[in-house]
Amino acid sequence: LSSRASNVLASLDISTTHEISGVYDGEWRGSGELVSSICPTTGEVLARVKTATPEELHAALERTREAYTHFRNVPAPRRGEILRQIREALASKRDELGALVSLEMGKIRTEGVGEVQEFVDICDYAVGLSRMMNGRVVASERPGHSILEVPNPLGVVAVLSAFNFPVAVYGWNLALSLAAGNATIWKPSPTTPLCSIAVTTIISRVLERNSVPGAVASLVTGGKEVGEAIVESQDVPLVSFTGSEHVGRIVGKNVAFRFGKSILELGGNNASIVMPDADLSLAIPAVFFGAVGTAGQRCTSTRRLYLHRNIADEFLDRLQKMYRTVAPGDPLIDSTLLGPLHTRAACDTYDKTIQHLQTIDANILTGGKRYGHASFSAGNFVEPTIAIPKSVNPKDFIWKTETFAPILNAAVFDDLEQAIEWNNAVPQGLSSSLWTRDLRNLGRWIGPNGSDAGIVNVNVGTSGAEIGAAFGGNKSTGWGRESGGDAWKQYVRWSACTINFSDEAPLAQGVNFPA
Ligand code: NAD
Repeated sequence: LSSRASNVLASLDISTTHEISGVYDGEWRGSGELVSSICPTTGEVLARVKTATPEELHAALERTREAYTHFRNVPAPRRGEILRQIREALASKRDELGALVSLEMGKIRTEGVGEVQEFVDICDYAVGLSRMMNGRVVASERPGHSILEVPNPLGVVAVLSAFNFPVAVYGWNLALSLAAGNATIWKPSPTTPLCSIAVTTIISRVLERNSVPGAVASLVTGGKEVGEAIVESQDVPLVSFTGSEHVGRIVGKNVAFRFGKSILELGGNNASIVMPDADLSLAIPAVFFGAVGTAGQRCTSTRRLYLHRNIADEFLDRLQKMYRTVAPGDPLIDSTLLGPLHTRAACDTYDKTIQHLQTIDANILTGGKRYGHASFSAGNFVEPTIAIPKSVNPKDFIWKTETFAPILNAAVFDDLEQAIEWNNAVPQGLSSSLWTRDLRNLGRWIGPNGSDAGIVNVNVGTSGAEIGAAFGGNKSTGWGRESGGDAWKQYVRWSACTINFSDEAPLAQGVNFPA
């Protein structure tokens, strides 16, 4: 193993000398299929992980369920105290975990560390929440009666997560779920097992110190089969799934079939619209970050750019200048702005999309190739690309599909109505952003005739969000909401309790049924 990799792994006590257990349910185990964690920058195998057999998964689900029956009796503020300790433990390893994210997923260091910070932030939020998950007292129509709406813990919450946020997405779910009194079982992406093992190790130590069963935060690594078995389990009332539209469609259907609840956080196909009155010195760097940051592998990455005719040439000129400053490199090195794509398969998808752009005679302003330089030949490096397809045909693959790579498709419009129509004319509805200084545009954009996405920004790019607001998207993005806002309400079961304090037993709506 390169010293670059072994230093990162050693800083988190991940042994590289033998196969690593990828299942945790109070104890570390794993005797299933071996998966390799492959570094997208160098192509080297970082470690081999022993995933869950079907029996181990079954046992882990049982232990998680048992852990829940214990944990639901721990008072919520006490659960908050455990979350506070988890927050401290994560913060003390912020840089090391961030580096592991860069090493295994491929995003640059500042973004890797940012992801861990997001987990820390949501823990803070959930500590507060643990004293504020309030129910309600509702006025009853019957004398001497009261109605309470009581939030109770739900049970086992499964978190099935994607490769591109191998730490933060679990964090959003774990923090709210634990505050609400549930136990979680996490199935991470099969290509980022080390991030999940490192995070689970840190959390399990905190649980142990507090004499809480480790299976309150279980981990089962594995592929599609493990995910499918969790989705089908009657012991899992809530499945929180983050991933592609293709898999989300299957997961959503299968969870609904057994009357489970799901939260779906699926693909994005996000647009930025730039009006002629926009401050270009803010808009251009934001589009640059949105399209090139994380090598275009965020669900909120900017994939479509709609420019008003009056500023289009200048905008593209200045944006291309920024693209020219990008040099690919090791995401662990601080000055690197562009890391690799996560897998070889992603490079193939990039190539196919470029080929498609060529067949529809798009003007490729910049990019369009893999980096051929020898030092990158083992890594998955592709050039960030700006293309101008000949027309905006929402039915064309190029506009309606999320290609998980740094490809930005641009088009020119004459009025805001047109741009909003284009913005909304795709299946997905995650993030969107309008650049303007005109209040009238803003009002239109955020209102009923505006963007139909879940995230509707003004003078802020599409990419990246804070934990305070509920995060998620509409339409084929799945309608799920996680993190802040009212998202916690999905992690509890609501009990409507009508209580009679009187000496009479009247029926609702004045129904008369003499005995
Ligand atoms: P993916 O759909 O390939 O995999 C996601 C998870 O599902 C993995 O853990 C995978 O092992 C599991 N899985 C695969 N088949 C399954 C099945 N049949 N049943 C149950 N589980 C199964 O996604 P990916 O390539 O890892 O991630 C990229 C995608 O995730 C992009 O589309 C991106 O936009 C999306 N994403 C969305 C958000 C959001 O918040 N909306 C956030 C991050 C990523």
